[in-house]
Amino acid sequence: MNESVKNKKITVLGAARSGVAAAKMLKNLGADVYVSDSAPLCSKQEQAAELGRAGIAFEFGQHTDRAYQADFAVLSPGIPVRSETVQKFVRAGIPVYSEIETASWFCRSPLIAVTGSNGKTTTTTLIGEMLKAHFPHPIVAGNIGSPFSAFAANSDPQSPAVVEVSSFQLETIDRFHPRVAVVLNFAPNHLDRYDSYEDYLQAKWRITKNLQRDDLLVYNGSDEKLSEWSSKVNSRRQGFFIQQNPQAAAWFDGAALYVKGTKLLDVKEMALRGPHNYMNALAAALAAREVGIPVEAIVRVLRAFRGIEHRLEAVAEIDGVQYINDSKATTIESLTVALQSFDTPVVLIAGGKDKGSDFSKLNELIRSRVKECVLIGTAADKMAAAWQGLAPLYRASSLQDAVNRARQTARPGEVVLLSPACASFDMFADFEDRGRQFKSLVKKLQES
Ligand code: ADP
Repeated sequence: MNESVKNKKITVLGAARSGVAAAKMLKNLGADVYVSDSAPLCSKQEQAAELGRAGIAFEFGQHTDRAYQADFAVLSPGIPVRSETVQKFVRAGIPVYSEIETASWFCRSPLIAVTGSNGKTTTTTLIGEMLKAHFPHPIVAGNIGSPFSAFAANSDPQSPAVVEVSSFQLETIDRFHPRVAVVLNFAPNHLDRYDSYEDYLQAKWRITKNLQRDDLLVYNGSDEKLSEWSSKVNSRRQGFFIQQNPQAAAWFDGAALYVKGTKLLDVKEMALRGPHNYMNALAAALAAREVGIPVEAIVRVLRAFRGIEHRLEAVAEIDGVQYINDSKATTIESLTVALQSFDTPVVLIAGGKDKGSDFSKLNELIRSRVKECVLIGTAADKMAAAWQGLAPLYRASSLQDAVNRARQTARPGEVVLLSPACASFDMFADFEDRGRQFKSLVKKLQES
């Protein structure tokens, strides 16, 4: 495959982390690489320095004609295919490929690819941990913070690779060929970048495009649409289900996880909580089994896995009250699965910048599971209007005020849950900043 990029003129569009990694990989493989990014140089000093050190030519602030003199282009996921920048390549007959497509040409490891609307990072990380328990040099990459291009060309054929892939990256695949494709679920997301929900689902479904007869599709059998579509793929398929089902390869029976009739473990042995995470665990177990990881190693990882920061993350137990950071929950769907994860009363800290959500969809869960709603941010009024009368409401003036109030309200055995169902940008830099500030306030409570 090196031959096919050697001396080729390749434009990498977008100099974010994956774009820079793709440029460096292609340069190392002998290509004539040019990086073009419309953001001003002053906002990309670090990337410019890295490209300079690698001897890669670049431009910032515009896409000049030079960018369009290419045999093909590699597209960063942040740039929509429908944008004028990309369409100009298409009109000129220049192929445009995503970064994961390009990286996959050089990857010699058997590939596991994970997509879905929710749970990709959790499932990819879990599969990564399972691979690490059994193989010497597995790759864990993709949309998870470490670009596939940074590892693909040095991959070990004996160790599998797992990559998290978004619908954006799948839009411009061609030969991307996973041995195991995992599709977790379908839910309305990113509709600003697609003409319709159907278009978005079709983009995700492209993960199955190159599956061959011996490959495996791991799919959520409890999702009607996914179940229907999976019956039409050419490959083998295994479904995971939220309850026992004759067609299930893996399932949750309300207390334990099973794979093909073998009990893996009781879910109370796991730190991961909530039915959504049990589905992620089942998907990971099926993918791991397919690449030869023994059941004992899978179970060991499920027992040891602490979860991922900002996703139902256990922060502390203070006076018998558990404090949970779920700052990644920026949608009502995420708050739904969070509330479904606890069977004790929850003091909920929610709010932030509204994404146009219909908070009344949560009414039943607020009524049945929430002891008090402590509301923050600019969405507080809208939330209060939706949830009036379902649970006591408290408007907090700051996150500090919210944590103090939650501490006063929660009793031993109960839970204080930060699960905002909103974006963070009204009060914080991003969801990570919000989660860290929450954790630091809780730690101070613990020390006082
Ligand atoms: P992604 O990488 O797809 O954004 P993450 O693993 O980072 O997914 O989880 C993000 C949020 O999505 C979680 O905090 C939780 O609210 C929700 N989530 C995770 N897994 C699932 C699932 N299987 N079904 C529905 N929602 C989920």
